Amino acid sequence: MRAGDLWLEGGRVVAETPRDPQPEWTPGSYLEIALAGRWVLPGFVQAHLHLCQTLLRGWAEGRTLYRWLAEVIWPGEAAHDAATMTVAAELGIRQLLSGGTTAILDMGTTRHTESIAEVAARLGLRATLGPALMDRGPDAARGLLLSPTESLARFEAFAAAWDGHDAGRIRAALCPRFVPSVSEPLWRELTRRPDLARFPIHTHGAETEEEVAEVRSLTGKSPIGYLASLPGVSGRLCLAHAVWLDDDDRRALNDSGLAVCHCPSSNLKLGSGLADLRALRDAGVTVGLGADGAPCNNRLDPWQEMRQAAFVATARRGPESIDPWEILALATAGGADALGQGEEIGRLRPGYQADFCLLDPERDPATSGTDLEPSEDGNRLPANRLRAMNENQSEVGARFREDPAALLVFAGSPALVVETWVAGRQVYRADAPLDPDLGDRVRAARGHLRSRLHPRKGNEP
Ligand SMILES: [Zn+2]
Repeated sequence: MRAGDLWLEGGRVVAETPRDPQPEWTPGSYLEIALAGRWVLPGFVQAHLHLCQTLLRGWAEGRTLYRWLAEVIWPGEAAHDAATMTVAAELGIRQLLSGGTTAILDMGTTRHTESIAEVAARLGLRATLGPALMDRGPDAARGLLLSPTESLARFEAFAAAWDGHDAGRIRAALCPRFVPSVSEPLWRELTRRPDLARFPIHTHGAETEEEVAEVRSLTGKSPIGYLASLPGVSGRLCLAHAVWLDDDDRRALNDSGLAVCHCPSSNLKLGSGLADLRALRDAGVTVGLGADGAPCNNRLDPWQEMRQAAFVATARRGPESIDPWEILALATAGGADALGQGEEIGRLRPGYQADFCLLDPERDPATSGTDLEPSEDGNRLPANRLRAMNENQSEVGARFREDPAALLVFAGSPALVVETWVAGRQVYRADAPLDPDLGDRVRAARGHLRSRLHPRKGNEP
């Protein structure tokens, strides 16, 4: 038994380094994952995604948020049927698993979100998601708008079918899209109804200056001020972005127990702005990372988000302001905390869900040949380093020696991931053959969407 091996039982981590198996373990009741010189990380938890947008990748370039939504994204989401949504989810989830993502918070769209849940259930991803709730908006959003009653009926049907599926691996979330697309009566219903109080809430907020101005004119408050004023949201609302904040907003986030998903690639690509991660963290706000949708990123890659998060923080506050161990913790434990699942996932500890990925640094020249000291038994990620990350502590690497977190954050990539596990089940193996039909299914589904968006031409956007 090498130090660093993992022992699993019933889908959970039993022990990290069991020198002596516990007497109550019966042979065959647990599974040993021999790390054999590879590194183990808690699986990445991405706290903001839109799998319904995966097939729209590349169709919405060169636009700021409101044009991006109105000209491509809202019509594109409205063009889905169950079959195209299934392909969108499959393409997205395969990319997520191959990069080491084990859990997500996903905003569906108003129809066919159950197709995303079906694929997540089938492919083994841990997912919290729900239909997007939208009852007001410009003409461009008309294909997605439903009345408050219809919106909540759709959510209830989704939750009845999927919430708690597979021992809680799939969970339902209330997903009001953002303040401008949700009326006061709908916000009131979804935050005040006692029968909805157990569901997490996911939304967007303070993404662009334009949105902040619109919310001020609609409500008289900033987006954060408005969300923080809603009853019953403490500890259950995670909002994406939080780019345009003042000190009052940051205080309100912390005081009202709202979590933030930082999406640096999306913010950079849409030109939305540079979120101030250091200020958010110093204000005590719970922060996770997420890729947002495939058309504003254009990858669903937690490695990219870690790298961009570090770079954006550095651009705002200097390279001393952020430690790579802190970035790694945001991408794992921070996301779990933002989902309200910090007692279950995001860390590798006895009793936690066995959600993790195994890495081989020799698979990428950018990380190959590292001079990290192998431990006596061949496990090259020293246990104290892993523990430091799990405790969300920062630690400075010894001078003139590579720091493993810096190596992963600045040089790491999905190429390092050799296996991904969720709830003690292997859900991705790098050497397994790819599905040979996936590309054809994606091409066909994109063709269907394109023909619905442009019925006469049939060959754009
Ligand atoms: Zn988003």
